[in-house]
Amino acid sequence: RIAYVNGQYVPHRDASVHIEDRGYQFADGVYEVVTVTGGRMIDEEGHLDRLWRSLNELRMAPPMKRAPLKMVMREVIRQNGIRDGIIYLQVTRGVAPRDHPFPKNTPSSLVMTAKRLSMAKAAKTAEQGVSVITVPDIRWTRRDIKSVSLLPNVLAKQEAKDRGAYEAFQVDDDGMVTEGSSTNAWIVTKEGRIVTRPTSNSILAGITRASLIRELEKNDIEIELRSFSVEELLDAKEVFLTSSTSYVLPVVKVDDQVIGNGHPGIVSQKLRSIYENFMAGEV
Ligand code: PMP
Repeated sequence: RIAYVNGQYVPHRDASVHIEDRGYQFADGVYEVVTVTGGRMIDEEGHLDRLWRSLNELRMAPPMKRAPLKMVMREVIRQNGIRDGIIYLQVTRGVAPRDHPFPKNTPSSLVMTAKRLSMAKAAKTAEQGVSVITVPDIRWTRRDIKSVSLLPNVLAKQEAKDRGAYEAFQVDDDGMVTEGSSTNAWIVTKEGRIVTRPTSNSILAGITRASLIRELEKNDIEIELRSFSVEELLDAKEVFLTSSTSYVLPVVKVDDQVIGNGHPGIVSQKLRSIYENFMAGEV
């Protein structure tokens, strides 16, 4: 495997950054994960728009202009021979002696890696559906920024894993679901209404979420952008989640509550196929 580190393509096992990188010391960095299908990136522009927004919100300089960045992404995919997988890219505020304020005249660091993912395994997971747990949302109030400061998300995902679940849906102080540790949360109510939380500082604006909303609008399928409570979640006819790596993934159990008949619901399956059609169109 090959990694890109600040201008160089190096063997993955030798790829390293300096101990005074601010990503390492302060989690002073942002990232993106882009899905690669058939050798092509899905929603490349959406991910780059979000990266630029994250950088801007943190007053961090882009490591390079957008066009060369796209070329590096393509090169990382090519050098790793990825057909189906992901590309990870991370930008930090660079290497400087440890001090909280922004360093002056320090270029940001750019790191990229890519890896293969098994499409067969993902398809099987989607066929069976997954379980999720609910946990308190203990994150900061700028969850709209895709920061590498992921400790609360790490703790939430580990708790899910410890309890045999795929994902943890985080719940705010008002008892409303924000989002998963690395996914956006959706329900289909008993009345058949498709609901997901509107974007704000409380959640990350998922690119998959946005693309699914756009595809649903094209198909004249109505959705309701509003917060929903844990009670509504447990009482839902269907539950599903979205992310770049999970696409549209049916949820069949929440905490110890079986959702529907314990199998992926008809709406979730339809939305997954709508999303898969969109991805096929991107390739
Ligand atoms: N919420 C959080 C907290 C995430 O980390 C992710 C994954 N990037 C998502 C939602 C889903 O976003 P996307 O569809 O852009 O992968």
